[in-house]
Formats: sequence, C-alpha cells, structure tokens
Amino acid sequence: MAKLNELTIEEAARALRARECTVRELWDACSKAIEEKNPELNAYLEVFAADDAAIAAAQKRIDSEGENAPLLCGIPLAIKDNILIEGKIASAASKMLENYRATYDATVISKLKAQGALFLGRTNMDEFAMGSSTEHSAYGKTLNPIDTSRVPGGSSGGSAAAVAAHLAFAALGSDTGGSIRQPAALTGIVGLKPTYGAVSRSGLIAMGSSLDQIGPLAKSVEDARILYEAIRGKDVLDATTIPDGLYEARELPQSLRIGVPRHLLMEGVSADVLAAFEATLAKLTEAGHTLIDIELPTSAHALAAYYIIMPAEVSTNLARLDGIRYGHTARGETLLDDYIDSRTEGFGEETRRRVLLGTFVLSSGYIDAYYRKADAARVVLRREYDKAFESCDVIAFPTTLSPAFKFGEKSDPLSMYLEDIFTVTANLTGMPAISIPMGTVNRDGTALPVGIHFTAPHQAEQVLFAAGSAVQEAQ
Ligand code: GLN
Repeated sequence: MAKLNELTIEEAARALRARECTVRELWDACSKAIEEKNPELNAYLEVFAADDAAIAAAQKRIDSEGENAPLLCGIPLAIKDNILIEGKIASAASKMLENYRATYDATVISKLKAQGALFLGRTNMDEFAMGSSTEHSAYGKTLNPIDTSRVPGGSSGGSAAAVAAHLAFAALGSDTGGSIRQPAALTGIVGLKPTYGAVSRSGLIAMGSSLDQIGPLAKSVEDARILYEAIRGKDVLDATTIPDGLYEARELPQSLRIGVPRHLLMEGVSADVLAAFEATLAKLTEAGHTLIDIELPTSAHALAAYYIIMPAEVSTNLARLDGIRYGHTARGETLLDDYIDSRTEGFGEETRRRVLLGTFVLSSGYIDAYYRKADAARVVLRREYDKAFESCDVIAFPTTLSPAFKFGEKSDPLSMYLEDIFTVTANLTGMPAISIPMGTVNRDGTALPVGIHFTAPHQAEQVLFAAGSAVQEAQ
C-alpha cells in the first residue's frame, strides 16, 4: 500500500472500513508530511492541533456503522483561509483580518463536520482571493511542490499545494474567476467550480458575490465528486442557493459530444500545451466520444467583462473593512485619517488596486460606460453558451495558456490577469466547470502538469465528472 497520506479519499475510506488503518493513523500521516514539507512550501498558514474527540468520534462511527458511515468520516482535509471554522482565525491571507476569529461555521464546514471529516489547518491564498499565483498573500508565497521555483497558481494555491504534496487528502478552495481550477491545473490535481448556487456561500469571506463558489481540490475525479456531494445543497443562510437539479435524474450520455472552440485557441496558448490538449482530445475520440466544432465569439470579451464586474463587487464587499467596524485599525488625527490609514496598512497593493478600480467603474459618471456594459456582455455570453450546449454536452479547452510560471514572472498586473482568460467565463455564466490533469509539458528539464477544462450547462456537474473520468481513464 502507498503511504497513508498518499491515498485518495476513496482508498482511505476503504482502508478504514477494512480495518487496514485507523483514523488516527490517517491524521498522523498527514501531520508528519506537513511537519516535513510545510516549512518550505508554506501551503498552510496555520496547522491545527489534533482534535482528539473528533478523531475518536469518527473512529467509533466507522467501527459501528461500517459501510453506512459517510465516506468523508475520519478523512483529514485542508481548508482555504477564507472559509470560516468556528473559533479559528480566518484571515483571507490579509493583514486586515490577521486576528479575526470566526464566530460560526461556514455551511460547508457544518456539513463536513456532520459527516465526520477532520480539518488539518487553513491554507494560504492570494489576499481576499485576488490573484493567480498565491504571491499576493500577506503571509508569504506558497511554493509549487512539483517545482519550488514556480508558483502553485492561485488564489487557492495553498489548498492546491497541500493536496498535490499529500499534506491533506483533499481541500476546499473558492473560485471567483478560476481560483480552484487554475491552481489545480498547475499542480496536477482535479479542481471543480460548482454551478453558481449549488454550494452555500454562507461563511465564505466574499470577494465577488455574483461569481464566488466554494469547491473541491482533489487527487481524483471521484474524490472531487465525493466532496462536492458532501457540501452541496439548498441553504436557508444563502438565498442564492438552488434546489437540487433535475439534471441529475437524467441518464448520462454513454458517449459525450465535446464542443471545442478552436478559434479561442489560436492566440496565446503555448505550443506544447496545445499539443497536450490535442493528444487528450484524440484519446477521448478513440474512447468513443465525439468532437464538435463550436464558436463562442463573445468569449473574446469575457476577461474584460470579468475585470470590471469583479472589482465592482470587491469594492462593495471590502467596504465593511474600514478599521472601525471590522479589521485592522490605525488611528490618525481625523476620522478620515483613520479610514485611510487602516485601509492602507491593512490591504496589500493588489487589493487596493481592485478597490479603486471597482469604485471607479461604479461611480455615477462611469457606471453606464463600464459596469452596465460588462453586465450586458455577461448576458450575451450566457446565451452563447446555452446555444452551444444545444449541440454538445461539454465544452473543452486548456485550463491555462501555459504551465506554472516562475515567481515574479507576472509582476505586471495585466499579464497576471491574462492567466484567467479561459476560466472566468464559467463564473460569469454561473456554469459548472472542472480542470483535470492532461499530462505534462517540459520547462527547464522539469515535467510540469497542465489541465484540460470542461464547462457544462447549469447543474450538470455529473456530466463534468463523466468527462473527467473519461480523461482519467484515457491517460
Ligand atoms: N485570478 C482571478 C482573479 O485574480 C480569480 C480569482 C478567484 O477566482 N478568486 O481575480
């Protein structure tokens, strides 16, 4: 058997039920790996002490319920630092919330606790989930375990690195424009952004409220499915959650019609990433799936629309962090100084940039020119995708233009924003999307993972899992 911490959730759950290992052993295997590797990787900002009562309770439940115990019972997980766990600090990797202690559990956490899952610690991220590299954390960067001279992606880079380095069986992240899928691709794991409203946002520190979703980062498609099933569902604490879809009840197509928007791949995608993508598509057709050419002309404007709508919502959501009601406090001569100093000291540069940008696009002189136009583009995008789904079951493209980049390589904000070109549309349209490892490409003699990205219609997560399994099996 592989080392315990290297198992998937599926394998660990089976081992627990077969009494080949105990919950305590799973926990200790992760703790040991964290002790060895976290000082270098900085995937976790804080590692929690073992909760002996929770470990014992999970073991007892598996012993008494056996096969009927939830699959996540006794499984240690990592949680992104913007998801609230009662009594623990949730800082969103910001100095602003350095000492903020959560007074309640996020709905996803209550659901996981009810299943007997365990929490190893909180993981590093770009401040308030803004970024694509985990370089914008107030607590230092996270290294990519595959090549430590490179970024793990972001903003859920800590969660991705923790799973890829086997410092947790799986993790939760949040995705506003790609923050689960992009780091999953750059570290060689699976990442799912659920349908908007499929998973409750109660207890998630908000970035862009019309875009944010919590989702799993996992070692396999099946593990991502297990975590997704555990956290989803209507929640009275989040009015945007949707009732369970009718889609699940439908039969899954035996062979998938995969829509490929080739016109989008013309510019910017590295030649070897494109080759890995084509090779993956070829394997899928060999396995009996069909490729369909589709056109998504408005996608060319998706990134621009995202970088207007997202900062607008960021500026609104972060307004509460003013040094008076919440967060880091600095005191100056006047009340205005208090605000300015608190926010200047508490927020990092990227956060301040987005607050300014968002305030600008919402200001009375510019809201029509920018915000309302972007909002209209969003409707067009959604219609275009809906139309494309009349002829295909999923839409495929690479998750990123290139593999993990070096630290500091994208110090120009616009080049960093370009990282999100393929991932933002799923957030703008609210559709579910997944990134699955599709092999590696070589950089400086190191094989770096890349991912294939599938989007499906609203609430069609099951189709994404089917597409993901097809890729996994074809590898
Ligand atoms: N990289 C994107 C951004 O910087 C997405 C972030 C996210 O999904 N949280 O906004």
